[in-house]
Parts: sequence; C-alpha cells; structure tokens
Amino acid sequence: MNTDKLSARLASVAKYVPSGARVADIGSDHAYLPCFLAKNKGLSFGIAGEVAVGPFQLAERNVLAEGLANIISVRMGDGLKVIEEGEVDCITIAGMGGALIASILENGRNKLSSVKRLVLQPNISAISIRKWFIDNNWELIAEEILEEDGKIYEILIGEKGDPNKPYNKNQDLGLLVGPFLVQKQDETFKKKWTAELKNWERIYEALENAAQSPETLEKKQEIIGKIKLVKEALTNENS
Ligand code: SAM
Repeated sequence: MNTDKLSARLASVAKYVPSGARVADIGSDHAYLPCFLAKNKGLSFGIAGEVAVGPFQLAERNVLAEGLANIISVRMGDGLKVIEEGEVDCITIAGMGGALIASILENGRNKLSSVKRLVLQPNISAISIRKWFIDNNWELIAEEILEEDGKIYEILIGEKGDPNKPYNKNQDLGLLVGPFLVQKQDETFKKKWTAELKNWERIYEALENAAQSPETLEKKQEIIGKIKLVKEALTNENS
C-alpha cells in the first residue's frame, strides 16, 4: 500500500469521499488516505489528524515527500480537536473499533456543524456507530462490506438527515447487521454472520454447561436474542 495504491479497505473509504471535498482523516497514521485523495480526487484541503507521535511523524514525512504540504495539514491531537470549526465538509475515520469512532464523534460534536458527510470504517462493533447516528440525527445513506487478507470490514456512510429512514420495523436487526447490508445479502455478509452465529452458539453451549447463576441466565438471554437476530439476518426475513 502507498499513496497511489490503497488497500481495498481504504480504497472503499476513498470511493465515498466527494471529489473536491475538504476532508479530515482522523487517526490517519501514514496519511495514505488524504494523500491518495489529494492526488486522485481533487481534495481542496485536507487534515491528517493523529494522536500518537510515531504515526504523526510518519504522516508528516509522507505528506512532505509527496509535495502535498500545501493541501494537507498534518496535526497532532485527540480526535476532532485537530479541526477548527467550519474547516472541513467531510470526515473519514478508519481502522479503529466502532465504539472508539463513536466516542471520537461524540467528544467532537461541536466540530460537526459544517460536515456534510462521515465515511467511517470500524474494524469491529459497527453497531456503536449506527446507534450514534440514530442518537445524533445522522442518516446512514450507504454501507459496504468487504474481505481483505482474511478480515471482514464494514464501511458506513452518514449524512445529516432522517436517522430512522434506512430502518424498517426491525430496527434491532438493522442496527446489528446493517440495514443496507441485510438487504444486499452478499457472500461476505453471509460469511461474517455465519461465523458470528457459530461463535454465539458455542458461547451459549458453554453457558448451558456452567453453573446457572443470575449472571449466566442474563448472558444466555442476551445471546439468545443475538442468535435470533442473526438467523433472521441470514434468512433475510426482514425484507
Ligand atoms: N486510518 C488508518 C487506516 O485505516 O489504515 C490507520 C488506522 S490505525 C490502526 C489507527 C490510528 O488511529 C493509529 O495511528 C492511532 O494512533 C490513531 N488513533 C487512535 N485513537 C485516536 C484518536 N482519539 N485521535 C486521533 N487518532 C487516533
């Protein structure tokens, strides 16, 4: 991977960044994504935000080496703190857990007034982002799922709008597996949720064989709920 050739995962994120956008890439690490966007999608202004020193220095080096320092500002700081209000209209956050991405958005809510699009790629717990969208009036407008190097990734795209629009009557199912992805039912989706289903069935069996404390019973109920939802997802009963 380099600034001309992104991984399939980051290329999928890049696909949803509008041409000519002003973008902040938070947790940018090597800054490959903003550099690629500047070279290929007419980025008018970019911020590569990083909280850790090593990745921050790497981002600075890469941006300088590509001659993109006039377009991309590399900044060190936590989450959206690196953005001044009104500076960007699109934010990308990729390669972290969904709960961390949701907390970055929550802690930086005051920086979102000028932002029209969020392109988010959680490694796990996409549900945390879908819930944050619902609670904060962001509408999930598209989702992607893809497999690369044996790992399955989801990409969630949000714009300000009606947060309930993508969900039908079974919102719990949509929040867990993705309202667009469950409709599409592609092979990667089926692979992910078949594996999750087997995992939860294994956990349930282990709990069945354990001492039945109130905590065990509660956990079993929770897992039964998830198993039911995933079975629905795989038979697409909600469509
Ligand atoms: N976005 C790149 C990608 O998808 O390939 C890099 C992903 S890397 C696994 C996650 C990066 O996020 C790390 O470099 C880490 O230092 C940074 N990070 C984690 N929490 C952060 C935060 N609160 N604010 C800014 N950067 C953060």
